[in-house]
Amino acid sequence: KKQRKVRNFSIIAHIDHGKSTLADRILENTQTVTKREMKEQLLDGMDLERERGITIKLNAVQLSYTSKSGEEFIFHLIDTPGHVDFTYEVSRSLAACEGAILIVDAAQGIEAQTLANVYLALENELEIIPVINKIDLPSADPERVKKELEDVLGIDGDEVILASAKANIGIEDILERITEVVPEPAGDSEAPLKALIFDSLYDSYRGAISYVCVKEGTIKVGDKIQMMSSGKQFEVNEVGVFTPKALAKNELTVGDVGYITASIKNVGDTQVGDTITLANRPADEALPGYRKLNPMVFCGLYPVDSNDYNDLREALERLELNDSSLQYEPETSQALGFGFRCGFLGLLHMEIIQERIEREFNINLITTAPSVIFEVEKTNGEVTTVDNPSKMPDPQVIQEIREPYVKATIMVPNDYVGAVMEIAQKKRGQFIDMQYLDDIRVNVIYHIPLSEIVYDFFDQLKSHTKGYASFDYELIGYQPSQLVKMDILLNGDTIDALSFIVHRDFSYDRGKQIVDKMKELIPRQQFEVPVQAAIGNKIVARSTIKAVRKDVTAKLYGGDISRKRKLLEKQKEGKKRMKMVGSVEVPQEAFMAVLQMG
Ligand code: GDP
Ligand code: MG
Repeated sequence: KKQRKVRNFSIIAHIDHGKSTLADRILENTQTVTKREMKEQLLDGMDLERERGITIKLNAVQLSYTSKSGEEFIFHLIDTPGHVDFTYEVSRSLAACEGAILIVDAAQGIEAQTLANVYLALENELEIIPVINKIDLPSADPERVKKELEDVLGIDGDEVILASAKANIGIEDILERITEVVPEPAGDSEAPLKALIFDSLYDSYRGAISYVCVKEGTIKVGDKIQMMSSGKQFEVNEVGVFTPKALAKNELTVGDVGYITASIKNVGDTQVGDTITLANRPADEALPGYRKLNPMVFCGLYPVDSNDYNDLREALERLELNDSSLQYEPETSQALGFGFRCGFLGLLHMEIIQERIEREFNINLITTAPSVIFEVEKTNGEVTTVDNPSKMPDPQVIQEIREPYVKATIMVPNDYVGAVMEIAQKKRGQFIDMQYLDDIRVNVIYHIPLSEIVYDFFDQLKSHTKGYASFDYELIGYQPSQLVKMDILLNGDTIDALSFIVHRDFSYDRGKQIVDKMKELIPRQQFEVPVQAAIGNKIVARSTIKAVRKDVTAKLYGGDISRKRKLLEKQKEGKKRMKMVGSVEVPQEAFMAVLQMG
């Protein structure tokens, strides 16, 4: 059999440093797609980023490249998600590769996600090709950035390729370098099959589609495969590669990167990181690194119109098909009625799902403030987990409450270190370390409760550092905290959907802030509404929403009909996101008010 020359690589970068643009140039310069197709493809790609994969994802493209010396290569360019919520997926995509193009913006230099990605690449023992991009920018300072790469990452400055993905400079050098330094995938095509799943998506016709890299053995249409994590078996319908269009093949063998379909009805059966083997001749052990992903952030989703409850259930069922890290179960709230408690990998994931439900399924939602999972040890020794603040047990039976902590790495210019520390301190962070990366940049490391991160940490960080801070985090486990449940009462009634968990030391401040915020957010009603914050039976803060005096339109010049109509229309629009809670009409924003505290 003819010796194939295969190179599997991905592109890693901090967001906006030019990963997508370079990928486009590589596809163009290898004639994988024409300029015209590129435009269409690009649009697809963008839709897709937004939709997170309804059709084909542009994330495992096969291309052919003839080197300057005339040798022919097959390249597989594997895309990685670019957000901290998806670190595990990034790491599994990198596990499919032998090399990574590391892009650093010639004006911005190294940022937090640059480092995080490099560490993942090194963990996966990838050959790194350093590229300084955007050298066409007037503000580019490639020499400074090169020195950073040397000082911070120990990269040999002579190996750095200077490029502009936009102006098509340096692309040939990058392609040539890939052939030189990225190793040929090792593995035996006759060995028992080991195919790594690095992504999957649901297609209504073909079922779950696994994106795989074949590490050992060969897989053919008709083979009976077995998922090594679950033991579940399926029969292969189709295998193929993306060119970038899906192109069916007879088989995939060592080094191939492509897709497998096998009438798998549930994406939960094609877990990222899992190993596919053959049922008749299974591999002894799975590829390393598989983890079952657990949601870290939970919130309640309720239809504004309770008639939409069944539609909401269907929407979640549909979304779950394509997203095995989405969790949900029915939940009832006294205040909001019937809804669902949903678990997400992180805030971005949560926002994506909420938006899709509203946009694609046309359901108006009330979402409650996100919460983490608390671990509660009761006085009788029993340990339970709590993902909904209103379900926190009574204080008398609680021995200890533990909450998840993250290791947060914040990279800033040293002028802003003070500001960063102030924010981290306010967010109950424990200072761990401070490392100077060069003369200017500092890595500040804190252990911070995840619950503080899911609130407005990143926004605060950005606004107090003029946008210069970049940020990355990883979960490190549970630690005990002095936490209490704060209840909010409207008109004397406790509103379960507004309860939240807060540190005892901040409870009075937060209580005061939240009742003031509620007063701001909840419109005046026909009667006076007291707002109270309580810990157990004790009221810790109070405000009052005054009653409306007269018709809101009365103040407008009596005759101006159009103006009056506009105002009424505007009010109606505002109403869509209102929910009657007992006797009080509460807008969506009020349920999220706790996010804006502190
Ligand atoms: P990604 O987030 O890493 O995928 O970055 P993109 O490829 O989306 O690029 C982010 C922005 O930088 C876009 O506006 C690009 O047009 C721009 N960009 C990318 N490469 C270059 C380059 O070489 N020079 C200049 N001037 N702009 C670039
Ligand atoms: Mg991009």
